[in-house]
Amino acid sequence: MNVPLLNLRRQYDRLKPDIRRVLDRVMEHQKWILGPEVKELERRVAERIGVSDAVGVASGTDALLLSLRALARIRKGGDFFTAADEIITTPFTFVATGEVILHAGATPVFADVDPGTYNLDPSAVRKAVTKKTVGVIAVHLYGQACDMDPIVELCREKDLFIVEDAAQAFGASYRGNPLGSFGHAGAFSFFPSKNLGGFGDGGMITTNDPVLAGEMHILRKHGGRDKYLAERLGYNSRLDTIQAAFLLAKLDYVDEWNELRKTVARRYGTEIRHPDVIHPEVISDAEHVYHQYTIRVAGGKRDLLKEHLNELGIASAVYYPVLLNRLSLFDGRSREASGLKAAEQVSAEVLSLPMDPLMTNEEIKTVVEGVNRFS
Ligand SMILES: *Cc1c(COP(=O)(O)O)cnc(C)c1O
Repeated sequence: MNVPLLNLRRQYDRLKPDIRRVLDRVMEHQKWILGPEVKELERRVAERIGVSDAVGVASGTDALLLSLRALARIRKGGDFFTAADEIITTPFTFVATGEVILHAGATPVFADVDPGTYNLDPSAVRKAVTKKTVGVIAVHLYGQACDMDPIVELCREKDLFIVEDAAQAFGASYRGNPLGSFGHAGAFSFFPSKNLGGFGDGGMITTNDPVLAGEMHILRKHGGRDKYLAERLGYNSRLDTIQAAFLLAKLDYVDEWNELRKTVARRYGTEIRHPDVIHPEVISDAEHVYHQYTIRVAGGKRDLLKEHLNELGIASAVYYPVLLNRLSLFDGRSREASGLKAAEQVSAEVLSLPMDPLMTNEEIKTVVEGVNRFS
């Protein structure tokens, strides 16, 4: 039996009647740009995350970028940060997290991670702070919260902003509060494979600061409150009405599907027993929603396990094989705060197993037995 990483077709089959209904509705009203579904989704996401404002944008990347651009305006009074402004983040993330720091004019500073949770190590973040630091992007990788308490405390103490990269963590929480409600802004992605995925690109920013939200509204439509009166250097970065409509339909299922992801994760956690496999650590009081179930494979055997699974028809993936500080695009434009030993280690050892809320028993069993049989 072949087991894919995820099965979007099966998800669509489950949601088909809901999807067809909202599609019909949008086709009938024809309000393609910032139509009623966008406002409705913004309202419902703000409510679900527990914030005052949510702003729909064209992608998760733009959710991060517009957050930084709005913060540059509010905190520095300009369109952009400058290269003298440092923003601390993890090197073990999708390239978008680092890319947006450069697009916003600032300098990325990479700090090490905790090898158990794969997320930023708060003590490494503290050590990375200099007089130039303006903020932190905390990435909630694979659906698990960063250890936010020490990060929030540090940022209060030093007057730094926090942007949460919650692209992989819709519905996850930390000490009872939803991710995306801790920072000055939270960025979500609706890329099709994400926990709350659309049928194309899309993103959303959450914030408790109406002034920041106001800037984001302006930035996403060419820098103007009114169509032809641009005040800022803006973008065309709106969430499409059609995507918002699809996402409204899927939003009704996301919590239930996150629970199903957790069930798959529990089975992997208890049934995969292999001396070379290290299971992911879940921090206390955090609710992991398992965008990915990512193990570490000790003894330099990660690629061998991947090959072994591949021969059995079981898909697996390495997120992410190259740390951002090793990408040439960051050469001479970023700084490594300290040794990135743990990040180097995890990027060499991680392997993400198939994870889909609608995985069948047989699929789960096939993965478990496939890993356990590895020698
Ligand atoms: C997917 C992702 C992004 C970017 O989201 P897009 O919607 O693809 O632009 C940013 N950060 C992380 C951690 C992601 O996984």
